[in-house]
Amino acid sequence: MIEKQHLKALTKIVGSENIYDDKAHMIAYSYDATRTRFEPDAVIFPRHEQDVSDILKYCNEHLIVITPRGAGSGFTGGALPANGGIIMAMEKHMNKILEIDTENMVAVVQPGVINMDLQKRAEAQGLFYPPDPASEEYSTLGGNVSENAGGMRAAKYGITKDFVMALRAVRVNGDIIRAGKKTIKDVAGYNTAGILIASEGTLAVLTELTLKLIPKPKYKKTYMGIFPSVDNAMNAVFKSLSAGANPVAMEFLDKLVIEALIEKLGVDLPTEAGAVLVGDVDGNVPEEVEFQLKTLQASFEENGASEFRIAKNDDEAKELWYARKNASQSITIFGNKKLNEDISVPRSMLPKALERIYEIGDKYKFKVPCFGHAGDGNIHVNVMIDISQLDEGHKCIKEIFEMVVEMGGTLSGEHGIGTSKAPFMGIAFSDEEMQMFRDIKKAFDPNNILNPGKMGL
Ligand SMILES: Cc1cc2nc3c(=O)[nH]c(=O)nc-3n(C[C@H](O)[C@H](O)[C@H](O)COP(=O)(O)OP(=O)(O)OC[C@H]3O[C@@H](n4cnc5c(N)ncnc54)[C@H](O)[C@@H]3O)c2cc1C
Repeated sequence: MIEKQHLKALTKIVGSENIYDDKAHMIAYSYDATRTRFEPDAVIFPRHEQDVSDILKYCNEHLIVITPRGAGSGFTGGALPANGGIIMAMEKHMNKILEIDTENMVAVVQPGVINMDLQKRAEAQGLFYPPDPASEEYSTLGGNVSENAGGMRAAKYGITKDFVMALRAVRVNGDIIRAGKKTIKDVAGYNTAGILIASEGTLAVLTELTLKLIPKPKYKKTYMGIFPSVDNAMNAVFKSLSAGANPVAMEFLDKLVIEALIEKLGVDLPTEAGAVLVGDVDGNVPEEVEFQLKTLQASFEENGASEFRIAKNDDEAKELWYARKNASQSITIFGNKKLNEDISVPRSMLPKALERIYEIGDKYKFKVPCFGHAGDGNIHVNVMIDISQLDEGHKCIKEIFEMVVEMGGTLSGEHGIGTSKAPFMGIAFSDEEMQMFRDIKKAFDPNNILNPGKMGL
């Protein structure tokens, strides 16, 4: 519970309509997509950057823990008040698109803007904001930057960090800092934005983001390749990319996912299929799109594809994408609890990594359907268990993480570490590296009041 004197002081900063400590608000802000619950002691809605500064300064001086929050769609507990304290929620006021600068092709936004709202505003002006996490309809750009979110379009366009040109943030002592510029080149000073991206709200609170936009490609087509095995599909990925294909997305489904899609949703895929690749290609002239499709088709067929489908219109495109978009819900036929991890390995290691994942799953007698972003090496690994098998499930995950790190991969390609992957940080980082992270954290947040306990720090 927050002490009355603190509630009074913080109310003076934001007004009584922007701070709550009643039960309903505490429950509403106790969740994220992990569905783990930690109730905060209060939730506060800053109206602008100066409020953020005043709130942080007060909390720092009085050692009150504070956790920034976007939409609470995180998969790893980053926005959960795991150590109590106050939730600082950006969605109520700090949710404005401040500028679409068409000449420099940048957007300036507040952190509570929803990803899709920026995409729509950019597209209305012939521009394009490519990062597209599957949560794009509700996750905020502040959350996206803090997690360095990725999406299906990462294969061609990259991830959130590739679009952050500049930002403004507030340190726990209330100092307002700027990092980066609207300029394409800027090498003056430390790359502060670089260190704040993916810092999961542990170093500073983001208050403004300057994001790169690109011209919107005029033409797009959707393709699907069906393969007898994972190895065939992965070889097709390597060969088509080195042959000059540059697909917007290149998504992968394995045999178990295909089986689940057919059984649960009656999806039109051959029962003997061992893997599927599905995605979009785009371009500014139809010939560019045709070249992409031809390159993909040739490489897919050389690598054993039994079918190469091209959508003729939007409805057919939706049908091809239906399989990928419903992969996650279909695999529940294999267990009532899904331990979903988002490992990433250098693309060339994908076939070996998948082979080892299935072996580890077999050892624990769990089905491990896999799908995800083959074009960039980021795969969603789903250990399907019965809820009573949680301990065994976590052992299986740990073994998968160890194998992934040994192959030069990472614990998380896009969901971050938060609380759920914190116990595994020691697998990926040495004691010296963890100490360096702690030193960085201390330099930004000496009293450890900003989202403490996250990222294993
Ligand atoms: C169905 C579903 C699909 C998803 N698909 C994807 C996907 O394809 N790719 C992907 O990368 N992720 C995906 N996610 C995960 C999640 O949506 C992303 O991590 C997203 O970036 C989180 O945004 P948010 O606004 O919900 O942030 P929150 O969950 O509220 O917060 C995430 C982190 O950011 C910090 N934070 C938020 N705002 C600020 C701020 N202004 N300053 C400092 N720190 C801040 C929080 O403290 C927390 O650590 C998915 C989630 C769901 C539920």
